[in-house]
Amino acid sequence: MASTPNTGRSDLAISFEFFPPKTPDMEGQLWAAITELTEWQPEFVSVTYGAGGSTKAPTLNTVRRMIAETPLPTASHLTCVSATREETHRVVQEMRSAGVKHFVALRGDPAGGIGTAYQPHPGGYENAAALVAGLREIGDFEISVSAYPEKHPESADTAADVAMLKRKADNGANRALTQFFFDNDVFERYMERVRGAGITIPVLPGIMPIQNLTQLKRFAGMCGTTIPARLDERFAGLDDKPEDRAKVAADVAAEQIEDLVRRGHKEFHLYTMNRAPLVGAVLDRLGLKRAKVAQATGAAA
Ligand code: FAD
Repeated sequence: MASTPNTGRSDLAISFEFFPPKTPDMEGQLWAAITELTEWQPEFVSVTYGAGGSTKAPTLNTVRRMIAETPLPTASHLTCVSATREETHRVVQEMRSAGVKHFVALRGDPAGGIGTAYQPHPGGYENAAALVAGLREIGDFEISVSAYPEKHPESADTAADVAMLKRKADNGANRALTQFFFDNDVFERYMERVRGAGITIPVLPGIMPIQNLTQLKRFAGMCGTTIPARLDERFAGLDDKPEDRAKVAADVAAEQIEDLVRRGHKEFHLYTMNRAPLVGAVLDRLGLKRAKVAQATGAAA
């Protein structure tokens, strides 16, 4: 089944990111979210890989089921951390057999945890740029890569980050998806550096609707994302008011996207955290339209 792009606003295209569930409860939550968000007809969806030390199985199982039971063009993330090239190739072949045609190719976090030094596997791909080149040799895949508007925490400076993105694009990446950010001026300055370096692939802003500002601050610190003080002001006094908090969260994300649209951006990658209501509220505010989409039986577990 093919998915058609959302027709509510022809100037906007969206994609969604999910993570594989760790428990039966989380599995139910994921599939409820997928079922609901399918109605927004994203250009593609992606499933993260190996984060938090998990292996390929949860990603492969999730991706396989999404391809079998939904009309969503589904990308699998893939990291090369702690794996030989042969091991990575085996995963790619398994994914390909499951119907994966699009990879989000990543280096991955250091095996010792964020903040420790990254050691490439002696027989593996040393970084995401090398993985992109390897994927290009294996097959005619769609390949997305990461980008860091506020620089990757391990990068010496933005120039090093932009140079890595250039290597990934030169090696055959089709698009970049950014780490989430909240300051559009920072993104615009980053994009000036990216285009100035001759990188022409689309760079999709990664948008994180804020489910919980306190938790997000901890996570953002590890990712190198700045939380502007204005967000503290927007969420002040709402700790015990979940409905008001959800409205503010939807407003904040929709306002960020509207501002990026005014600056000429049209494609957005939304971090769903496997929850549909807030993401749906953001898309509602943007004027996108839902459509009932036929899904294979059993999609809503
Ligand atoms: P690269 O593109 O190879 O490098 C990123 C930057 O780090 C480069 O700009 C480079 O300057 C710098 N850098 C890289 N290596 C070194 C080094 N040895 N020394 C100094 N600087 C260095 N992680 C997961 O585990 N699973 C996922 O599914 C996942 N999905 C992601 C999706 C998106 C859209 C993004 C933005 C990140 C995702 N991550 C995921 C996180 C990612 O794996 C980490 O940020 C990781 O640390 C870097 O991987 P990368 O592919 O971005 O690395």
